[in-house]
Amino acid sequence: MICQRCNGQGEIYKAKVKNLGITLYICDECEACWDEDSNIELSTFQDLSTFLEQKGTSYNDADIEDLGYNW
Ligand SMILES: [Zn+2]
Repeated sequence: MICQRCNGQGEIYKAKVKNLGITLYICDECEACWDEDSNIELSTFQDLSTFLEQKGTSYNDADIEDLGYNW
C-alpha cells in the first residue's frame, strides 16, 4: 500500500515489534505508522518514534521485524 501521508513516496510495510508483541504498519519513507486496529488513512497515522516512546521503548531499542509489503 502506498503511504498517503507522504504523497506516495513511501510504501507501507507490515512489521512486528517483537519486544512489545504488537504488529504495526510502517511507511518506509516517512516513518508514519498505524497499529493493527487503525484504518490506514491520513487522519490516523502516528509518528513511529513517538508511538514507540509512548509504549515505553524507543526506535533504537525496538526489535522490529520487517514482514514485507504483501499483507
Ligand atoms: Zn509515508
